[in-house]
Amino acid sequence: MAARFAPSPTGELHQGSLVAAMASYLDAKVAGEPWLIRIEDVDQPRSVPGADLAIIHTLAQLGMHSDGPVVYQSQRFALYEQAFARLQALDQLFGCQCSRRELEEQGATRYPGTCRDLQLQAGISHGPLAWRVKLPMAPIEWTDRWLGPQTDDLRKTSGEFVIRRKDGLWAYQLAVVVDDAAQGVSSVVRGADLLDSTARQIHLQQLLGLPRPRYMHVPVVLAANGEKLSKQNGASPVAAAWADRADAWLAQLQVLNLALTSLQLEPVPKATDIHAFWSGATAQWAARWSGALGPATQ
Ligand code: GLU
Repeated sequence: MAARFAPSPTGELHQGSLVAAMASYLDAKVAGEPWLIRIEDVDQPRSVPGADLAIIHTLAQLGMHSDGPVVYQSQRFALYEQAFARLQALDQLFGCQCSRRELEEQGATRYPGTCRDLQLQAGISHGPLAWRVKLPMAPIEWTDRWLGPQTDDLRKTSGEFVIRRKDGLWAYQLAVVVDDAAQGVSSVVRGADLLDSTARQIHLQQLLGLPRPRYMHVPVVLAANGEKLSKQNGASPVAAAWADRADAWLAQLQVLNLALTSLQLEPVPKATDIHAFWSGATAQWAARWSGALGPATQ
């Protein structure tokens, strides 16, 4: 049993990613489970050198330390390969030669099934293939601890989705499912922007015979333009708030309290150090959520 924070190392920790880190951390502490940091650098071209260490350092400054070794997805390709082989043996994959541009030109919001029945084989004249997973015949249902009952019919939403890209890179959906299971993650707490990935992940868990963690999707922090806060729309690193300040702890408490209010909890009023902040925040999380832990496997 464990919980995890799984940042992609595309930049430093900003207020939005801090909220996801804090929610998963509080949930782990209240449940008495280890909290693990996993660096999701599966998409190596998008990874920014040094961002992983900067994120880990900022979390440590704010009092959040991984309860086990930090895991890097770029070192775990053998595990993804095994899961891929298993899905192939189960006849749950098909090769797809469509380019992203072709699919965009068709204007489809979900994969239209173009290569579904073509039985394309790797290494034959059509060039590199992406690999997509076949879909279940019924909608996926689960209960989100924050958002309540959910249902997602993948035949109408994503369509058959990619688990291995044409360039050979592993897709997030496969890597996250394999790693959550391998690390014993029983509690997934993350931003609501990932809500629509959940059914795809549950589907892969079912195909691979892996346990289903419980899920909680917390509100995302919005930028001034109404989009999810990100580096692209001006999120600054939280650590900039205390850089070069003699009273860094004061700025750190402000940053932490702001994240806590994003989780719809009250700032910890009299915290005079980080430790006091976490005691107050954990007590609030316990009061709000411990009745809603939900079974680890639903
Ligand atoms: N790596 C993903 C991200 O940074 C999060 C994955 C997850 O929590 O499942 O958006």
